[in-house]
Amino acid sequence: MIRKAGEHAIVLGAGVSGLLAARVLADFYERVSIVERDPLDGDGPRRGVPQGFHAHALLPRGLQVMEELFPGIAAEMVADGAVPYEMIVQLRMIMGGYEFAKMPTGETGVSATRPFLEGHLLRRVRRLQNVTVLDRHQVTGVMTSGGRVTGATVAERATVAERAADAGGSGDVGEDEATDPGPAGDDRNTGTAGTVETAGDGGERELHGDLVVDAMGRGGRTLAWLEAMGFDPPEEESIKVEVAYSTWYLRLPEKALGEDRMILVGTYPGQPKGAALCAVEGDRWLVTLGGNAGLRPPTDPEGFYEWLDAAAPADVAAAVRAAEPLGGIGTARIPKSVRRRYERLSRFPEGLLVTGDAICNFNPVYGQGMAVGALEALAMRESLRGGTAGLARRYFAAVAGALDPAWQLSTGADLALRNAPESRALRVRVLNAYIRRLQRVAARDPHVAVAFSRVSGLLDPPSALMRPHVVWRALRG
Ligand SMILES: Cc1cc2nc3c(=O)[nH]c(=O)nc-3n(C[C@H](O)[C@H](O)[C@H](O)COP(=O)(O)OP(=O)(O)OC[C@H]3O[C@@H](n4cnc5c(N)ncnc54)[C@H](O)[C@@H]3O)c2cc1C
Repeated sequence: MIRKAGEHAIVLGAGVSGLLAARVLADFYERVSIVERDPLDGDGPRRGVPQGFHAHALLPRGLQVMEELFPGIAAEMVADGAVPYEMIVQLRMIMGGYEFAKMPTGETGVSATRPFLEGHLLRRVRRLQNVTVLDRHQVTGVMTSGGRVTGATVAERATVAERAADAGGSGDVGEDEATDPGPAGDDRNTGTAGTVETAGDGGERELHGDLVVDAMGRGGRTLAWLEAMGFDPPEEESIKVEVAYSTWYLRLPEKALGEDRMILVGTYPGQPKGAALCAVEGDRWLVTLGGNAGLRPPTDPEGFYEWLDAAAPADVAAAVRAAEPLGGIGTARIPKSVRRRYERLSRFPEGLLVTGDAICNFNPVYGQGMAVGALEALAMRESLRGGTAGLARRYFAAVAGALDPAWQLSTGADLALRNAPESRALRVRVLNAYIRRLQRVAARDPHVAVAFSRVSGLLDPPSALMRPHVVWRALRG
């Protein structure tokens, strides 16, 4: 164990990225505290992660990293009911309207709901002796001294809720919205963003630390803290996606989908209706319909079936019609993908890092968020191995390198889908035409299907699609 970077690291947010960051930090700091506003004793979707109701495919690269950080976690999840599948034998991919040929790859994946996956990460984090999880506590600000972040202020959740009620505030729910069909209402982000508080009043508590990591997802507070501390904000790139989800949990008749464990139906220009069907723990299937470019999938059973009739192969649509519903249909909307270019800043406060959706959040249809959070944890580990001097600069540079391929893949596809001006540049048009050709050829040539699925699974960089044997097969096909 290394432990040389400092005494105390504080991770704000116990989502997937926060938990993975905490795992890494536990090797470098004497103590690590994770602050989370939700209670963490349940096993269903929680308020701070409303997207947890919807399909959360873990890309193969994400699973590899989780396995590296928590050896044996994949087997543990499977033993507890998660569904293992072999790529691309039990994963059926229908991309660009073409159903990919199948071939064993030796790569395996694990399919589970997001709360199940997060619950298993949390369990492993709790086993780390120097990590404390402070749930039901809301982060209200950071403490600073001489341009450095020196800790965070937190308040017990009840205290924050009472104060918000006194002030008549309803909270800021952000631009995206995700629900499960349970009781409505969301009091996310009822803190005091935009100021750097000195703690002490009204039930607030100070946590002093050498390093604070903002892992608070799309509602991350770093932008407000930078402004309050007199630092420039990062440049922001954003791509309008206007994606909407409808999700239904079902019990399918046995073997209704043969050996398939996951079925992904991608959207493409001219077909804005997509779907993801995942076998998950509890002998259930989680079916998420995804509408692109402002198209909202239905929330009634008949509309749900009709969407699948139009978008999915006939056997898939029939299996869903024959299934037993396990509750209502929940919805989510994601207006845009956003990437903050922290690596381009010339000044950034010491003692602060950012990770996960707080740096970059993607169009979820590509399933990249958790895998990218995992890659950022590795970037944190690498950066800390080089000491704490210039930590933020080295970390954000490493994060940018890890993010580039995922951002390139998802934004390239989104721009093409919307026929956005950026997608009409010659280089982008040629690339998109090549991708469409690869998808067509992948229907007959399993080697191309494998190459494609490895790139979309972040196992290989996008440049792997330009390797001579892939190009040759694409041209021949
Ligand atoms: C509809 C939808 C579907 C998605 N599907 C996929 C998918 O298929 N595959 C995939 O890999 N990714 C998917 N994603 C993305 C994925 O959810 C995120 O990328 C991933 O959860 C990593 O996010 P995070 O840990 O940075 O933030 P989050 O998961 O959002 O976690 C942030 C945490 O911070 C806590 N928090 C926030 N503010 C405070 C505060 N003030 N005080 C204390 N705690 C606070 C929250 O309660 C929460 O626990 C999807 C996203 C959406 C919206």
